[in-house]
Amino acid sequence: MRYLSTRGTAPVLDFRGATLAGLASDGGLYIPEAWPTLTEAEIAGLAGLSYADTAVRVMQPFVGDALTPEELSDLCHRAYGRFSHAAVTPLVQLDHDQWLLELFHGPTLAFKDVALQLLGLFFERFLTGTDKRLTIVGATSGDTGSAAIDAVAGREGIDIFMLHPAGRVSDVQRRQMTTVLAPNVHNIAIEGDFDQAQALVKTMFATPALADRFALSAVNSINWARLMAQVVYYFYAAVRLGAPGRRIAFSVPTGNFGDVFAGYVAHRMGLPVERLVVATNVNDILHRALSSGDYSKGTVEQTATPSMDIQVSSNFERLLFDLGGRDGAAMAAQMAGFERSGAMRLTNAQSQGASGLFSSARVDADDMALAMRWACEHAGQVIDPHTAIALSAARALEVDVPVVTLATAHPAKFRDAVERATGVRPSLPGRIGDLFEREERYVTLPATLDAVGAYVAQHATPSA
Ligand SMILES: *Cc1c(COP(=O)(O)O)cnc(C)c1O
Repeated sequence: MRYLSTRGTAPVLDFRGATLAGLASDGGLYIPEAWPTLTEAEIAGLAGLSYADTAVRVMQPFVGDALTPEELSDLCHRAYGRFSHAAVTPLVQLDHDQWLLELFHGPTLAFKDVALQLLGLFFERFLTGTDKRLTIVGATSGDTGSAAIDAVAGREGIDIFMLHPAGRVSDVQRRQMTTVLAPNVHNIAIEGDFDQAQALVKTMFATPALADRFALSAVNSINWARLMAQVVYYFYAAVRLGAPGRRIAFSVPTGNFGDVFAGYVAHRMGLPVERLVVATNVNDILHRALSSGDYSKGTVEQTATPSMDIQVSSNFERLLFDLGGRDGAAMAAQMAGFERSGAMRLTNAQSQGASGLFSSARVDADDMALAMRWACEHAGQVIDPHTAIALSAARALEVDVPVVTLATAHPAKFRDAVERATGVRPSLPGRIGDLFEREERYVTLPATLDAVGAYVAQHATPSA
């Protein structure tokens, strides 16, 4: 399988190259040259397979020759063997046709583990036997940082530097990062806010003395391999609910548009998806784009669903590229306009293409709390605020097929918000129950390139 950039000029790469590159060198995102499809019989043949075996069938066409089927199978079994539920992503029934797909049984209790556990193994596999190293640098406001750290802790050939805004992530989120003591993990608390931490990371990538010397790499959801890993659970859930004989709808709490784009890929591969609901909080750029064609950024409002508090959804570009006729030059021009003015209109082809499959909803704090209470009182399920945003949208959807809400975080990760809405304070699951007794390790640095760049240069290993 070959991968192209959405902006048309970066080199075409194979799966290994696209995985290691992350962002394309022309500023675009890598996307497969064509969508592989599974026939109805092949989809029916997924029934009864374990999660890891389903993952191998769904991902093999994207991986191509980069790994043998045996190698891919080995990595999938290792990645998903670390989940605490035997089904990896179990379905829970809430109502006659309302379901939850629990994606939070990984080591750090959010759905990001599903993709990052595998990505860590891909990185290690592709670096082994080369003299190359990778230095992962990221900024996190919560879930991505802990999932990425857990995925690469102790792996050969990789260092990870994770910046978080000092004092502005929850105690659970900080401890999930800072209690990982593997020597290749470097946590940095930045004296500043998340935007300053993220700006520092961008500056480091644009500083050749750091970026080239240490082979800096990103693990945010622009990496194709992450999206690919997320396609799997759409197949896994739909087949259990009767696909390919029955159509299924999904409601997805959305920030960067990575998770719901994976649902779009599943649809393009032949899964009978009735609807994909893009559920946003009051930071509703995607709801405005999909309902009126207006993609324009405002200022971010802080909410109880921090992982959806975004201004710009980086993966939306992949959808616009695919719906807009896969014209890299036109996409580059459209995005250049957006980067200049902070606003753009979707073309007719993009709007019409999206409306056939996507619905969208903007869910405010009151409706989020209502959904949490409904799940608790009606179905005995305590759900996290992000999941509640999508469940609220799912319940408003008028379809006569099963509707699956993606449950993206364990409620214990957001205990205060859950307790405010439901009166129930969820406890940490047994496997991380001792989080508050573990030793922490991190440094605190000022939000300057001098300080952080010097720290990275001192602790990372140059790439050959
Ligand atoms: C990251 C995240 C989201 C948003 O997912 P995207 O792929 O960025 O749209 C939703 N919920 C939780 C809990 C998350 O951590």
